[in-house]
Amino acid sequence: MSKFSEKLAAFTERHPRLSAAAAVAENVFKKPVFRCQDCGQCVLSYNAFTCPMRCPKEIRNGPCGGTRPDGHCEVYPERHCIWWLINERSKKMGRQDKLKFYHSPVDRRFEHTSAWMNMFAGKILPLSMGKRLKEDPFAELRARRQRLAEEEDKEPAEAKK
Ligand code: SF4
Repeated sequence: MSKFSEKLAAFTERHPRLSAAAAVAENVFKKPVFRCQDCGQCVLSYNAFTCPMRCPKEIRNGPCGGTRPDGHCEVYPERHCIWWLINERSKKMGRQDKLKFYHSPVDRRFEHTSAWMNMFAGKILPLSMGKRLKEDPFAELRARRQRLAEEEDKEPAEAKK
């Protein structure tokens, strides 16, 4: 993530109306295209661009075990299990490597906030656009958070000079 995107996220965070506008702008695109459920911590790029929050149990790491033999959901038998869809799409797109990565549970504090801004601010996992997982995305996130915290610590000291 560039310094510009970090500064943009920090500026947006200081202005609640701008934060709300960013969330609305993101929804205008992601709701119709990906049927985004507004969790604010996007994992589309890990799941063949299929939102796992469409699962009635909101499971983010694979099917619950109740998937029907025909690939349909146990809660809504008329629908496909979202994890069946994610697996099929991942196979077609050659992105199955991404499914080996375990995501943390949903953090409700991010709900109805802009996932793009949260990503720019280093609060959630980075995008993973390639077909393969190149490295541990959590390690990248931790390193980024540490760098941002160090920079924040430096800023007040420099301001006093
Ligand atoms: S993972 Fe979250 S932010 Fe991404 S499309 Fe699904 S609900 Fe929206």
